[in-house]
Amino acid sequence: DPLPLLVGTSDPVKGADRNPNDADELVHRREQHFASVQEHYYRHPPRIERGWQHTMIDVDARCYLDMVNNVTSLGHAHPGVERAAARQLRRLNTNSRFNYGAVVEYSTRLSELLPALLDTVFLVNSGSEAVDLALRIALATTGRPDVLAVAEAYHGWTFASDAVSTSIADNPNALETRPDWVHTVDAPNAYRGRYRGPDVGRYADDAVETIHRLAAEGRPPAAFIAEAYYGNAGGMALPDGYLDKVYAAVREHGGLAIADEVQVGYGRLGEWFWGFEQQGVVPDIVTVAKAIGNGHPLGAVITSREVAERYRNQGYFFSSAGGSPVSSAVGLAVLDALRDEKLQQNARDVGRHLKERLTQLAERHELIGAVHGSGLYLGVELVRDRETREPATRETTAICERMLELGVIIQPTGDRQCVLKTKPPLCLDRESADYFVDALDHVLSTGY
Ligand code: PMP
Repeated sequence: DPLPLLVGTSDPVKGADRNPNDADELVHRREQHFASVQEHYYRHPPRIERGWQHTMIDVDARCYLDMVNNVTSLGHAHPGVERAAARQLRRLNTNSRFNYGAVVEYSTRLSELLPALLDTVFLVNSGSEAVDLALRIALATTGRPDVLAVAEAYHGWTFASDAVSTSIADNPNALETRPDWVHTVDAPNAYRGRYRGPDVGRYADDAVETIHRLAAEGRPPAAFIAEAYYGNAGGMALPDGYLDKVYAAVREHGGLAIADEVQVGYGRLGEWFWGFEQQGVVPDIVTVAKAIGNGHPLGAVITSREVAERYRNQGYFFSSAGGSPVSSAVGLAVLDALRDEKLQQNARDVGRHLKERLTQLAERHELIGAVHGSGLYLGVELVRDRETREPATRETTAICERMLELGVIIQPTGDRQCVLKTKPPLCLDRESADYFVDALDHVLSTGY
């Protein structure tokens, strides 16, 4: 049943069927058996057990506004997803090399969303796997070992996707463990990087220079991989024309352009379905995951038939569970719901409203240095000093703690952990967006 949004309150009715000892028992078992490997930014993290739309619900039936779950494009517990998964579970669950039905239908629908040249879909389980496969395809089809990535980026936790992830925040060992086939260019951060204002075009010039230098040294990259929005900065647009210039240089030397759309693609940006559209480019390979399965394990690599055929002759691909008939059925249900519930438009409208309100908030609170992003992919950058842009790292964590007390889950991001990364389910409504801004206003006004 739909649960109402009960921000920051305990709902006695919803909690009535639960023995309070169960919650304790769950906590105990989590400590004993669940491998939670990353340090958390909360001192007292919420203990989430359920979700509904853009609400998460803890073991004590307390509700929170979910401002972090970009994995659920449609929102938690979507009935259409549930129905589609159940129907497909009754028909066929497993993958084989001979599958028809949902797998073919989903690959077709997915490819139809992309520019005509990108017509061939590999289905996998996650974003990390998609990035690994994209890199394998690039390496195998070009016969080269080197890859160019953007500094401070995150592309996943599997071996190759981790190698091209140089964000210290997501992977504290990133620099020490980076293999020598990974080369990086500066993060094109127009707010706090080395080039700002009218100079931001120079990020692309530097990247082009790096590609020419690598080629001259006999190591032209097999691929250039980047998000079309700078995700680790909380969702900052790349400088205009950045990807166009860098793609041209990598292709000039026979390499491929990979767009990682795991986080930004699928309507989150509001105005565009894909991040690369905003840059006016067409990549050779696109990786997607997260939103496409609404939290269900599903990822994809989309490329041209020509590249896919070359890979068929030179590489290997078979995933036992990736893009199973059930995942594909879920993927189809997500596409139907995005269309029927007009969620891309919602991301645009609510996102615009949210950005406007956050920008107004910045007029009253010095701590807000900038509001980045588009649609429902926004970054609120917190600084101690607007001139020096000194990162307000400690303050950001403290603010997240206070927001939690007010029933909002929000996450610090970036290598300096001073950006509130705002990436809720795409069904977020205006009232909840307003609640988020009011809560932030309250915290900034009353102390943290
Ligand atoms: N690429 C990007 C841009 C991501 O943001 C992420 C996840 N945060 C990944 C890849 C990895 O996806 P997953 O967690 O599904 O493996």
